[in-house]
Amino acid sequence: MPGTNLTREEARTRAQLLHVDAYDIELDLSSAREGGTFRSTTVVRFTASTPGAATFIDLVAPGVSEIVLNGETLPVANFADSRITLPELLDVNELRVVADCAYTNTGEGLHRFVDPVDGETYLYTQFEVPDARRVFASFEQPDLKASFTFTVTAPNGWVVVSNSPTPTPEGEGDTRVWKFEPTGRISSYITALIAGPYVGVFDSYENGSQKVPLGVYCRPSLREFLDADAVFEVTKQGFDYFQEKFDYAYPFPKYDQLFVPEFNAGAMENAGAVTLRDQYVFRSKVTDAAYEARAATILHELAHMWFGDLVTMEWWNDLWLNESFATFAEAVCQAEAPGSKWPNSWTTFANQMKTWAYRQDQLPSTHPIMAEINDLEDVQVNFDGITYAKGASVLKQLVAYVGQDAFFQGVQAYFKRHAWGNTRLGDLLGALEEASGRDLKTWSKAWLETAGINILRPELTVAADGTIESLTVLQEAPALPAGAKGEAVLRPHRIAIGAYELQDGKLVRTERIELDVDGERTRVPALEGRKRPTVLLLNDDDLSYAKVRLDEASLAAVTEHLGAFTDALPRALCWASAWDMTRDGELATRDYLALALSGLTRESDIGVVQSVQRQVKAALDLYTDPAWREEGLGRWAAAAEERLRAAEPGSDHQLAWARTLASVARTDTQLGLLAGLLDGSVELKGLAVDTELRWTLLARLAATGRADDQAIAAELDRDKTAAGEEHAASCRAARPTAEAKAEAWASVVESDKLTNYVQEAVISGFVQSDQRELLAPFTAKYFAAVKGIYETRSHEISQQIIGGLYPALQVEQATLDATDAWLASAEPAPALRRQVVEARAGVERALKAQTADRAAGARALGH
Ligand SMILES: [Zn+2]
Repeated sequence: MPGTNLTREEARTRAQLLHVDAYDIELDLSSAREGGTFRSTTVVRFTASTPGAATFIDLVAPGVSEIVLNGETLPVANFADSRITLPELLDVNELRVVADCAYTNTGEGLHRFVDPVDGETYLYTQFEVPDARRVFASFEQPDLKASFTFTVTAPNGWVVVSNSPTPTPEGEGDTRVWKFEPTGRISSYITALIAGPYVGVFDSYENGSQKVPLGVYCRPSLREFLDADAVFEVTKQGFDYFQEKFDYAYPFPKYDQLFVPEFNAGAMENAGAVTLRDQYVFRSKVTDAAYEARAATILHELAHMWFGDLVTMEWWNDLWLNESFATFAEAVCQAEAPGSKWPNSWTTFANQMKTWAYRQDQLPSTHPIMAEINDLEDVQVNFDGITYAKGASVLKQLVAYVGQDAFFQGVQAYFKRHAWGNTRLGDLLGALEEASGRDLKTWSKAWLETAGINILRPELTVAADGTIESLTVLQEAPALPAGAKGEAVLRPHRIAIGAYELQDGKLVRTERIELDVDGERTRVPALEGRKRPTVLLLNDDDLSYAKVRLDEASLAAVTEHLGAFTDALPRALCWASAWDMTRDGELATRDYLALALSGLTRESDIGVVQSVQRQVKAALDLYTDPAWREEGLGRWAAAAEERLRAAEPGSDHQLAWARTLASVARTDTQLGLLAGLLDGSVELKGLAVDTELRWTLLARLAATGRADDQAIAAELDRDKTAAGEEHAASCRAARPTAEAKAEAWASVVESDKLTNYVQEAVISGFVQSDQRELLAPFTAKYFAAVKGIYETRSHEISQQIIGGLYPALQVEQATLDATDAWLASAEPAPALRRQVVEARAGVERALKAQTADRAAGARALGH
């Protein structure tokens, strides 16, 4: 029984048999306001290389009323198990399928949302990985490209957007019909339909004779917050940059970006009709880091129009390449495009992407970048930190290795050669080899077919007068967790080494060299004979992917002067290194807290500030000796209050510290300050207590028992929006009572009525680090329920629950034992097992780090 799965082997066989010409898809959305199901009629024309052979087409639908293959009606019983069996193919075939498909509330397939502000219905599709089949019958695999023609019936007055430009609707009465032009040959997972009374803002990208219509859409209730000009500005910078670097004109007839509700990911690269989560339309003040992240997402999706949409992976094993390329492209474009507001994008990359990659690469589930993807279940759990973040880091390393000019020359040849087709990794590497003249087979084997992170350490001998006598870079093989796939190998690294000197209280780079590190020991003669610098930084500029350790003197200097680096990137590298050491139990949490308290006073990069704030909180919740935890949290909360009060009025730092205080406030004074800000009795100059900040303050008051149901209801009354409903659900789940916890638990685990967003909000409210005792009884309930959840809920919904409700806060041996007992007896499917094993690794790591922190505490006391 394939269920909703599809194996790679099945896809390969089907691709050998079929060539798909075109789909005509008619969708009747006239009853969208009522919900339920909608009529979907698909006519698909395709040829078969072996007449007489059988195949199948994919469909997930409550019912099928008609299947006609080459004029012959097939029994509807041919539709079973998410497939329609198609026997006896001819050379040239025409298939007609009429189905009743279902609207969803999980963000998969055709998502239906009702905005409480205007009571109107908003629809959008999300098809990656295999969900086009929830809307029309489809050969659901990326290498069966075809032309798609959509005809959509929808309520009069609606806006309907798809891959092709929106036509003038026809008809009269309550509904209209939109007849779209056929698309170019694309994969089913990047087709799209967005429909509802959305509002649009329009512009165009012009370059010589080229003119591409641009649109930006959102719900009317968000229109007042939509800064379309800022979106267009970044988009146009991306068009300029990518067209030049790729030497290939934008391949689709228009470019729409639609901010849609309850979107699971950041955004989706539907050809010419990109959907983005509508939290990117900022209702309240956010820091510059949020604008930077939005711009990065915009550029990421735009890069996919070429890499992913025009040229597409043959199968999902190359998903990593698709995502890594787009992730690399967003950063390099922000770093280099003229007029970019975020030229420090490599700092953000180091701070966020790298940290994510290093974390994921040390989990028991780590895997080579080139993962084996045998079926759809494999790929659905593989949208992970290896696929996006390690892949992108390694691609950055590849660019350093072959040189950026050669890299883009290779990419240009690749686009020209494979436009509108499908490729494998070898096609790109071949083009890069031609352009660069470097052999990439060894490189690719070492980097893409193995797992784990190398450690680079300096080995330094210094003469009495302070001259460097010898410098060697030592490389260690990755410490792979037990059971991890792949071999632990040394790799070729192209790295920079920076020498920094303390000058007038600032750490300034006085020398930089670049070299290839290969094997266990690499001598660095270029720096021998010079005076030893204050800080010697390996992997400066973050070219390679490796854990880096500092020599003792450099570590001491960094611990004292982290904030003194004049450049943001080396600071970010040192922050990342400190966090990594904390997670590894090499730096005690209390020492990391001390480092953060001193270093943050001089950290100007707001994205780094916010990352460190989150990491400190996580370290205090998980990695600190429980006996010292309250002390640590108290210090952190006191610091947050002090810095909030001292921050420049109206600054991003002020907002970031306000949110930090709201995540940790514990004394009467601190909680009184939150309450005072909320009711207006206290004002801090420049701090706008706007809608989102109000909810942040209220969430803490609810979690500490200082805001009851009435207070939550009153706040919802002020913010009667979908976001308000989510916040209110989160606040109710956060209340510190057994009843509140039981109610939240039941709404997620025992019922399947919540939408993806409300469920996420309830889970985040339910899990409160100050409520360990209240949450303890749910460990057993979790293991009793989790397998059933996996088997009965959609992929997105079950993933939220499995990861979100795992008892990660119960850092004790008993949690590991309960997990192990469940793993031994429950016979979980591989994807479920993987998620639970990853969560278990978090508890194991936390136990180790707590031991290290306890030892540091004992040392400090002189035991
Ligand atoms: Zn992507």
